[in-house]
Amino acid sequence: MAIIEVPQLADNFAYLIIDDATGEAGVVDCAEAAKVLAAVKRQNVKLTTVLSTHWHYDHVGGNKDLLATIPNLRIYGARAENGRIPGLTDPIDDGDEVRVGSLHGRAIGIPAHTNGHVAYYFPSLKAVFSGDTLFIAGCGRLFEGGAATMVKSLSKLAALPDDTRVYCGHEYTVKNLAFALTLEPGNRALAAKYQWAQRVRQEGKWTVPSTIGAEKQFNPFLRTDSPEIRANLAKVAPGLEDPVAIFAKIRELKDNY
Ligand code: ZN
Ligand code: FE
Repeated sequence: MAIIEVPQLADNFAYLIIDDATGEAGVVDCAEAAKVLAAVKRQNVKLTTVLSTHWHYDHVGGNKDLLATIPNLRIYGARAENGRIPGLTDPIDDGDEVRVGSLHGRAIGIPAHTNGHVAYYFPSLKAVFSGDTLFIAGCGRLFEGGAATMVKSLSKLAALPDDTRVYCGHEYTVKNLAFALTLEPGNRALAAKYQWAQRVRQEGKWTVPSTIGAEKQFNPFLRTDSPEIRANLAKVAPGLEDPVAIFAKIRELKDNY
């Protein structure tokens, strides 16, 4: 089994999940079908499944074109986003099983960026596909849910095993890390990750995947209890104690960064 990154649009990722046992593949999110189909051909696999994380066009805009080439595709996506995910065949809810060939995964409902946003977790791959909810060193914008909803969604991902690899929807890492450093300049894991990410990008490579354990060390949206972050926030917004209020302030600062 393998996970293959397929760059899409300016900074999106689609991911091929390959099941060696059956030669079947699934794709997590697809904006540009031609690039996904080219990767499928290169890998010499049979694309049977689409796993859509949420309805935004940069994640599902290629579904129709995939269907035009492969009419019997199975397309998973949130029941709550039925009608907005093109070609949806298998509406899912939190906890539902998904399959790619003989690989078993499960949907984790993580609303806030969109109302029905789901992650796909494959324990046998030690991998979670987090869409636009958890980015490397960042999180998605709150388009359809509030701060409390996002905090709960992120905590569901943070509860996965530390060695779970995180495959997110966008290459936003360098900018996320630069912002994180404004709040936590003394965090050595964060500073090291920033140096690493800049070098990787200069080499034309991608910063995915991360891991859940690593994210807990430097992602400010998972670090609302950090004394350094709290002290720096207090300079601009004194008196915040509640983790949701702290999260909301960090999100607001990031929106304006
Ligand atoms: Zn999105
Ligand atoms: Fe997106």
